[in-house]
Formats: sequence, C-alpha cells, structure tokens
Amino acid sequence: MAILAAPAPLAYGGGGGGGGGGAGGGAGGGEGTGGKAVDPHKGGQQKPPAEAVPWRNYLDVFKYSKRAIQLVWSTNRTLTLGLAFGSIAAGLLPGGIAWVGKHLIDSIVTAARVRTDAARDHAIEWVAIELGLVITLAIIGRLLLMFRALLRQQLGNRVNVQILEKALTLELTQFEDSELYDMMTRARREASQRPLSLVSQTFELGQSLVMLLGLGALLAAFSPLALAVLIAAAIPPFVAELKFSGDAFRLSRWRTPETREQIYVETVLAREDHAKEVKLFGLGPRFLARYKQIFEKIYAADRALTIRRAMWALLLGTIGTIAFYGMYLWIAVSTIQGLISIGSMTMYVVVFKQAQSAMAGALGNIGGMYEDNLYLSNLYEFLETPTMSPSGTATEGTKPGDGVRFEAVSFTYPGSRELALDGVDLHIPPGSKLAIVGENGSGKTTLIKLLTRLYEPTAGRITLDGRDLRDWSLAALQRRIGVIFQDFVRYQLTVGENIGAGDDRAYDDRERWDDAAERGLAKPIIETLPAKFDTQLGRWFKNGRELSLGQWQKVALARSFMRRDADVLVLDEPTASMDAEAEMKIFERFRELTEDKIAIVISHRFSTVRMADQIIVLDRGSIIERGTHAELVAEDGRYARLFNLQAQGYR
Ligand code: ADP
Repeated sequence: MAILAAPAPLAYGGGGGGGGGGAGGGAGGGEGTGGKAVDPHKGGQQKPPAEAVPWRNYLDVFKYSKRAIQLVWSTNRTLTLGLAFGSIAAGLLPGGIAWVGKHLIDSIVTAARVRTDAARDHAIEWVAIELGLVITLAIIGRLLLMFRALLRQQLGNRVNVQILEKALTLELTQFEDSELYDMMTRARREASQRPLSLVSQTFELGQSLVMLLGLGALLAAFSPLALAVLIAAAIPPFVAELKFSGDAFRLSRWRTPETREQIYVETVLAREDHAKEVKLFGLGPRFLARYKQIFEKIYAADRALTIRRAMWALLLGTIGTIAFYGMYLWIAVSTIQGLISIGSMTMYVVVFKQAQSAMAGALGNIGGMYEDNLYLSNLYEFLETPTMSPSGTATEGTKPGDGVRFEAVSFTYPGSRELALDGVDLHIPPGSKLAIVGENGSGKTTLIKLLTRLYEPTAGRITLDGRDLRDWSLAALQRRIGVIFQDFVRYQLTVGENIGAGDDRAYDDRERWDDAAERGLAKPIIETLPAKFDTQLGRWFKNGRELSLGQWQKVALARSFMRRDADVLVLDEPTASMDAEAEMKIFERFRELTEDKIAIVISHRFSTVRMADQIIVLDRGSIIERGTHAELVAEDGRYARLFNLQAQGYR
C-alpha cells in the first residue's frame, strides 16, 4: 500500500508511470513509528481541500522540481547532464523518425513508379537512415535507464545521510514531538526513490514537451489549423490533470493524521516486539478492525475523487479520440484529393498518434510529480526544522568544587500544561551521595534529564561548579556526567561494544572494557558467554545471544563505569530487575568506586536508599522532605511511611 500515494494518475494512458508508488507500508519497515504515541489531532491541515483553489496553486507541481534538480546536480553532475541531454535527444528523435518515414515511403512510391537504380538506392538510403535513428533512440532509452539506476543509488544514500545528520542535531524534545518524528520516518522510508523520481518525471515531462514541439512543427507544415486542433485537444486534459492531481495532493496532506494512525496500527500488528502482547491479550482482531475502519474513512474521500477524475478522463479522452479521427479524416481526404503524398499522410498520422501519446505521458508525469512533491515537501520540512539553542563553550566552572546546584528549577514538558518540576532547590556537593525517592510520575527522571541537559529548565537554573549548564560546552559537560537510565539501550552489538559505548574515546579499549565489567559486576556473565567480550548480543543478528533483563542491566552498569573521568554519576533505577541482594551489592560497590564523586541514585528499595548521605522525597515535582535516612525516619512523614510499608513486606 502506498501510504501517501495520491490515487494513481488514471487518465489518458498515464505513460509516465506515476512515481513508482510509495515504498511498502509502515509495518515491518524498520523502525516504523515504533511505540510512539500518535496524536491523530496534530499535523496536517485543519480544513478539507477546498473546491476553489487559486490558479497558481495548480503550478505547485513544479514547486520542488528546482530543488530536486539542484539536489541531483550536486550529487552527480555527469549523470545529471547525461539525463538532461538524453531526455532532449529522446524527445527530438521521434519527430525525426516520423519525418524520415515520410521520405522513406515517398521514395519507395517514386522508385516503384520510375523504376531506376538511383531511385531504388535513394529509398534504401532512407531505410538506413531510419534504422540508424531507431537504434540511436533505443540506445538513448537504455542509457537513460542506466543513468537513472545509478543516480537512484547515489541519491538515496545522500538523502538518507542528510536525514541522519539532521537527526543528530535534534534535541530530545524534538524527538519526542510525534509530528517531527513521523516526518523523519516518512522521509527515510522513501528517500531512495522519491527525489530521483521527481527529477525523472521533470525530465520526462521536458522530453514530452520537446517531442510535442518537434511534432507540432511537422504538423504545422501540413496546416496551422491541424496544430491548433492538436493544442486545443490537449489543453483540457492538461488542466484536468493539474487540477485532479493537485486535489489528490491536498487530500493526502490533509488526511496525514489518519494515515499516521493507520501506520501506527499497522506497526502494532506487525512488529515483533509488539507481537507477544497483541497475541496474549487477543488484541489482533480489534486493531485490525480499527485499521479497516481508518481505511474506509480514507477510501470514502479517495473514491469520490477517483470517480470524478475517471469521469473527466473518459470525457476528455473521448474528445481527444474524436479530434484524432477528425484529423485522420482530413488527412485522408487531402491524400485522396492528391494534395499530399502517401508519405506525408503516414507521417501526419504517426505524428498525431505520437503527439497524443506524448501528451498522455506528460499527463502521467504531472500526476507523479505531485506525489513526489508530497514526499519532498515532507523531506524539506524536516531538514529545515530549526534545531534548538546551541550550547555554550565553557569547559570549566567559575567555582570549582561547588558541585551541582538546582536553584528554583521548574520545568514543563513541551505541549504539557503541568509542571513536571516545581521550584526545586538542591545542592549536591562533590563526593556526596544523593538518593531520590518518590512515586511514579513525581519527577525523578525529569530532574535527571535536566541535570544531563537533555532539557533546559523552564525557570530557574542548574549550575555545575558555579556555572549555568547552558554556558557549558556540551562535550565538556557530557564528559563530566555519566548516566544510566532505566530504559537504557540494549545495543545489538558485541558485549564489549555495549560496555565501550560508555566512553567514546575508549570505545575499542579492551582493557577498559574489562575494568568496567569488573566494576559493574558484569564480569561473571561475560565469562559464561561463548566469545566472551566479542559475543554478539541481542536477536537482530545471527548468533546473537539474548540476555535476561537483570544481565542486561549489569552490562549497562558496566557501561556507566567506562566514564572514569565523570565526577557525577547517575543511576536511574537501572537495577530494578535485579534481586535486592544484587542491587545492594552493586550499590556498595558503586559507593566505594565513587568515593570522591557525586553519585545520584533513583531507587524504590530502601535498603539502597538508606545508604545515601542525602535523601530527597519528590511529590508532584516538589521536594517535600529531605535529610538522611535516620532524620527522615525520625520525622515520621512520607518517607517514614513508605519505609515502614516496605519493611513490613520483608518481615
Ligand atoms: P518519575 O521518574 O518520578 O516516575 P518523571 O520524571 O518521568 O517521573 O515524570 C514526571 C511527570 O512528567 C509525569 O507527570 C509525566 O507524565 C510527565 N512526563 C514525563 N516525561 C514526559 C515527556 N516526555 N513529555 C511530557 N510529559 C512527560
């Protein structure tokens, strides 16, 4: 199913083969819209495509042609030039062949009449010329296909690299913006064919127009009126195609939210990591019904347009055919009356036929170009999304040894109205261990995300060594802070690389892997793996070993220990899947290893939490209690209650 495809250009034989229909659906297509919530109310335009659209909108079809050509030109000039000249030649040759055909037939007729050797040789010459032209045309056609195939690969790669480079510059907030994320997914999905398709269509359109020009010149020799008939018969289908393709274009854009929802449902139904739950909960039929329902909705709108388009195509097509046979009659009568030769007659008939098919081709190109425009508008919208504030340049603080400070920090997630953090004040001196406690959704992870500068506070400021995080160079900051989140990544790479990923500068350093594995208590697991550090993890690739969640967590912990220079280490519940004893062991180890460093731990286990020098209790984004374990128990507040609750469970 072509997700964004406007209904294929039905009309008039659609010679151009409209845009190669979008690449297979979202399902199974790599990442899809994996797990992202899709807000069906966002995106797209709010109004259905209006009936009355200003004229110049119809010319939108050419809006991205220039950029696509620039893109192709800068990708490979030789091939682009080849494509351009090839298209012009392929446009001129059919007229030439028709003209040679006329002379061929006339020379045959003459030779049959006068029966001289000279006349016979003359006719043979024309055969040879026609043969030469036909072969040339065939060669050019082949070359054009080859140029296109070569360009497609280069261009696909180039566009994908552009998309990925852009992705690297996006802020986390932008990744979480479902609309932008979706834009990127769509851009990537069709990157290998759309830009070239637009260029091919543009050149093919040019080729058809050159061809029409040549054929028109020949026809004008017969009668300017014939040329006028040809043009008159051509204009209505052109206008209709512009209009209907434009409508289809606007319709597809307008219904993006539905299409997006459909892709999401498709993803849920067809993705391996969703399959377990969908099967066990028996969700399949429900989601499938939803999928069909969305289809019906989209189909209803499409159907109306498709029918209208087909009706007009039929009507205008018939007019074209009548015009053609009217011309035929006229040419035939002129021949009978001896006004033109038999050769001229064949030429005009061929010319007229070819002109009509060139027109059909051009119309097909226009339809296809709209689809490609749809893709490119999406691509450029994505590439032109502004990236957010560049970071500062400082590599040192103004008060070295001050540690981390939160000063009246508040934060609201983009698109949300509630405060995720509300006026947080906090000082974490070097060497101190902080534990954060609080219910789900109380803001623990958000606090860490702000500290690691994945987001910026909406109000207040966070400082490291006395300097606002915003003024720090991002690279310097990231070197100083090591963090493992609860949803850490399970890289489908070797164990060694999974650990090495923690420090880009020592990514391949086997000694450091070993050391970090030792610290993260991952060593015993690695010892049992067939190729030790070189064992491929995960199920994506052949011979990959899947680990249990707890084992993965140890590997992730080892990764955090790769950051030897980091003086702030954060563990956001990465040990939740380990048993209490393993977690305790890890934290004792963590404590030893981070003696002179700041360590921040989020945990629901009080056996771990109680070891911290400072504990804060978060509730709806605010710190409601703070102190040591003993102080907080004595205070007999929220902390004490939660602690007793858990202690009871162990009794
Ligand atoms: P905790 O880690 O304590 O469980 P979080 O810090 O993850 O809680 O979340 C705090 C609040 O912010 C919650 O109300 C949650 O719904 C909201 N929230 C978390 N992440 C996002 C996000 N990416 N976009 C919008 N809201 C979010």
